[in-house]
Amino acid sequence: MFASVAPRLHDLNRLILDFLFPPRCVSCGRWGWLFCPHCAQEVVPAGDHVCQRCGRNVVGAIDLCPVCQDSAPVALQFTRAAALYGGPLRAAIHALKYENLPDLGALLARYLIAATNTEEWSAVLRTTDAVVPIPLHPARYAERGYNQSALLAAAFAKQKGLAIMPTWLTRQRQTQSQTKLSREERRSNVADAFRADPQVRDRCVLLVDDVYTTGATMEACAQALVDAGAKAVYGLALAMPPFQESLP
Ligand SMILES: [Zn+2]
Ligand SMILES: [Zn+2]
Repeated sequence: MFASVAPRLHDLNRLILDFLFPPRCVSCGRWGWLFCPHCAQEVVPAGDHVCQRCGRNVVGAIDLCPVCQDSAPVALQFTRAAALYGGPLRAAIHALKYENLPDLGALLARYLIAATNTEEWSAVLRTTDAVVPIPLHPARYAERGYNQSALLAAAFAKQKGLAIMPTWLTRQRQTQSQTKLSREERRSNVADAFRADPQVRDRCVLLVDDVYTTGATMEACAQALVDAGAKAVYGLALAMPPFQESLP
């Protein structure tokens, strides 16, 4: 009996809360939505013309972007982003991380779900054993109350019928914020920051993160998984800056 009543009570609570504290769009401030349809409409998909390895959008008939052409193969098989980082999506991701709005996680996961409705992704998801979010350090988790990448990963995995294994990867040490660091500084900042569970041996893992900038964090996670015996590691980010805005 409780099972059928509980969701209705939840809906009723939500209606009352929405009436008392109506949501406002985190980007434009319109009342009635956390992320309004006008702003959702302005999110730019990453597109098809991307680097085959890192997923950055590229111009011209090249398979690898200049950064990947200059670097050795990495632990990540490939990374793709759902959308370009900027405009309303930048505001929404900022709000998800810093304004205590966990409900935005499932809303924004819709972009991950839509972006992976492709043949390329169908093949990857068929072999994926588990979705693993990029972990936060326990101290930052305690401060924020949730891991934004885990919220995105959970909504995505549920929709795709995949297992989610947040414990397969842990962050061993606090790393400084990456926002003001160069590409090289980011790499050394996160090197050896992650540990993978031995259960990842011979498994195919799909990493999920909110923003992919230089890829240093995603790559450090993939390296930890590969070191623990993972068979393949793929990356999926909600947003990635256009190539021109990527760091040198
Ligand atoms: Zn809006
Ligand atoms: Zn690339």
